Amino acid sequence: MKEIISTHVSYDPIFMQNGNMASLTNLSRKRYMQKKRILYHLYTRGQLSNPEICKLTNMSSPSIQKLLNELIAENLVRDEGIGQSIGGRRPLMFGINPPARYVVGINISHSTTEIGVFDLTNQLVGKIHIFRRQLENTQGFVDALHQEVVRVLASAKINNDQMLGIGIAITGLTDPRLGLSYSHLNFSEKSVKTLFEEKFGKPVFTDNDARLMALGEYVFGSAAGQENVLCVNIGAGIGMGMILNGKLYQGHSGFAGEFGHIKIQEEGLLCICGKHGCLETVASGDALTRMALAAVAAGKSTILSNHSAEMSCNTIIDAALQGDQLAIDLIGQTGTFLGKGLSTLIHLFNPETIILGGHMSRAQQFLLDPVHQTLNKYTIGQIQKATRLITSTLGEKAAVMGALALVMEHVFEDLSVN
Ligand SMILES: [Zn+2]
Repeated sequence: MKEIISTHVSYDPIFMQNGNMASLTNLSRKRYMQKKRILYHLYTRGQLSNPEICKLTNMSSPSIQKLLNELIAENLVRDEGIGQSIGGRRPLMFGINPPARYVVGINISHSTTEIGVFDLTNQLVGKIHIFRRQLENTQGFVDALHQEVVRVLASAKINNDQMLGIGIAITGLTDPRLGLSYSHLNFSEKSVKTLFEEKFGKPVFTDNDARLMALGEYVFGSAAGQENVLCVNIGAGIGMGMILNGKLYQGHSGFAGEFGHIKIQEEGLLCICGKHGCLETVASGDALTRMALAAVAAGKSTILSNHSAEMSCNTIIDAALQGDQLAIDLIGQTGTFLGKGLSTLIHLFNPETIILGGHMSRAQQFLLDPVHQTLNKYTIGQIQKATRLITSTLGEKAAVMGALALVMEHVFEDLSVN
């Protein structure tokens, strides 16, 4: 992907010279790349000894030691003590210094935004913060979200210089190359990337929420190390991220994975996309909520009768977990439609794993069982057997961690071209 260099942000001098490589002398560019290569290996592999880094970088032991000493002085690397012997003297180990830099991962959905701050060992600082404000297509929303992130960083005592960058997952049609959303925050000429870069003064990268969820699962979760994975995000709507041949697939215009808008019912309800009978109208969290409200209004016997005012897919899943038959039946109906859609995906992609994520995945077996039953009915057995269907292990953290992975991909991308 071609990097867009933003002129209104300050790049980290040790991690991200992408923005002003041209202004560096040959010697300082070489030194920057050497240090960055060491940081990359420590970030991706954990603790390493000097001889191990020599092997990985093809550099001499004295050169590595000199660079390590510089990185220690800059507080980016720390001495981790004596490691295990692999024959001979036990080596001194080095590791990345976790609090030296931080990345902010943000997941913007319709009614809430999740904010996670991660250190250099990908550990969440504190917990995921939930910013409760309806997504509006206004500068006011951008300002308010920025203020919230500033508050979160201040409470964790993290200053601006320690921030490497910000990753933003956003619901709807997104073009990751331009950093813009066609569905939200498109009130001005500026892309989502630019709007937030102007606020934070740090590099910002964005992509669709379902795709970042898939990236999160691929880098940190249940899809780690797998080459062909579909990650279906079932929240208010339905989105999908695809890892194909080990790469996040974006499609020709960056719109790949609009699984929620495949037609599933001939004379179906009107969808937010303007078409009728989309999968989203019968199998999403919003569809489940609509069905539950209709059932309550029709006087069906259910513990949901007392929850009409605050009905959401979470309320319905809670009722199912308590054994409410209507809630279980309704989740079953959505699972049957979802299974029909997934059967098409299995025939097309022959994936190793399908991960069901988003709010609906909390329904676990109430959702998985009817999906399995439908797959048995509609999918060629041989192909279906090769696919594992699971719910997300990262859960609510998946998209925020995908946003973290997106930033780190960009941080280290110049290593692959130099
Ligand atoms: Zn639709």
